[in-house]
Amino acid sequence: KKRLMIIGAGGVGNVVARKSARMDDLYETILLASRTKEKCDAIAKECSPVAVETASVDADDVKALCKLMTSFKPDLVINVALPYQDLSIMQACLETGVHYVDTANYEPKDKAEFEYSWQWAYQEKFKKAGLTAILGSGFDPGVTNVFTSYVAKHYLDEIHYLDIVDCNAGDHGKSFATNFNPEINIREITQHGKYWENGVWKITEPLEIHQSVEYPRVGPKESYLLFHEELESLVKHYPTIKRARFWMTFSQQYITYLQVLENVGMTSIKPIKFNGIEIQPLQFLKAVLPEPSSLGEHYEGQTSIGCQIRGLKQGEEHTVFIYNNCSHQMAYRDAKAQGVSFTTGVPASIGGRLLAQGVWKKPGVWNMEQFDPDPFMELLPQLGLPWELVLDGKLAFPKPGVSNA
Ligand code: NDP
Repeated sequence: KKRLMIIGAGGVGNVVARKSARMDDLYETILLASRTKEKCDAIAKECSPVAVETASVDADDVKALCKLMTSFKPDLVINVALPYQDLSIMQACLETGVHYVDTANYEPKDKAEFEYSWQWAYQEKFKKAGLTAILGSGFDPGVTNVFTSYVAKHYLDEIHYLDIVDCNAGDHGKSFATNFNPEINIREITQHGKYWENGVWKITEPLEIHQSVEYPRVGPKESYLLFHEELESLVKHYPTIKRARFWMTFSQQYITYLQVLENVGMTSIKPIKFNGIEIQPLQFLKAVLPEPSSLGEHYEGQTSIGCQIRGLKQGEEHTVFIYNNCSHQMAYRDAKAQGVSFTTGVPASIGGRLLAQGVWKKPGVWNMEQFDPDPFMELLPQLGLPWELVLDGKLAFPKPGVSNA
């Protein structure tokens, strides 16, 4: 059996710990480590049957990580702290001989830049060390990459057009809150939009391009074009793609709040002096907003995320839509989480499982679409994320699985 270490005890860490602790066929023990040990303890006491130990660690500190990893001796780490910690955790994995999984690409703290270059630069080091790093095993990135590779494997010879559509049609009852770490979320949506077309990246003003998108069992929702990191790896690995875009829904109220916060300078990541100390306005804003992990209990409605893909099979054009709908209430019943943490934590625990089992193991640093999608797709419904596939407008593959009503 294997030893798993999870880093980060926020909304996503909670789901990864609970789901992985139910895998007693695979794990003998789990360590949940994060900055605040009390948060780890609160999660650990609800996990079973695999026992979850806890520890406090500063994941920016490679030495501290190495010390903890040398004493716990994990086979793999699932990193669900913040994107800032990706490189220090990857470095510690290299130094201690541990496999690695995360859900978001590295970002430097002082620049909102979303790209894989920093992590792809570790390719040779992981290869030489015989270690596997799986990047972006959340929903988007993560499931969206696997959806795309599943369609490429079974339905299309060439992918031409890819639109990833992400809708949260839930209501948490708060006037303004973000569904995952507010700092990361706000950095993501206040940046310029970017999409791939005919071999080049096209840049837009933030939230400039929007249109109504029809989401299954949700209906039409205004959706905004953003840059999302899976576009970078997908256009690299599927060079036949002519256009790749990412769309996300926001309510008018959310955008109004965001604009006000932006206009008064609260979303800035440039440090300011306050009472003699340096603070980042955005980090301060995070401190006064609700914790994403606290939204679950009264969250109604569902998320709907999928890939609309058009391309060729034996010379003929086909369209495939592949998606998951996830109810916030189901997520709360299953893992005391809201839907966004759940749809991220489940794929992270699946990535961890496939790596620990050796099914998805190859030395180097990989994006999700570089592995065989089938075992991942099989586990999704079993762990609470059933998916459906519509081929040329007709439901082609309603996968039986755990009910998500
Ligand atoms: P939270 O803010 O709820 O949790 C982050 C956790 O990391 C907290 O427990 C925090 O500790 C801990 N942490 C932060 N800094 C450090 C550090 N230096 N050392 C140790 N622990 C640290 O975020 P979420 O759970 O919502 O998100 C987790 C990750 O998942 C993020 O990287 C996010 O970008 C990613 N994500 C990916 C998605 C996808 O679909 N691919 C979707 C949603 C999220 P403390 O509580 O003490 O602050």
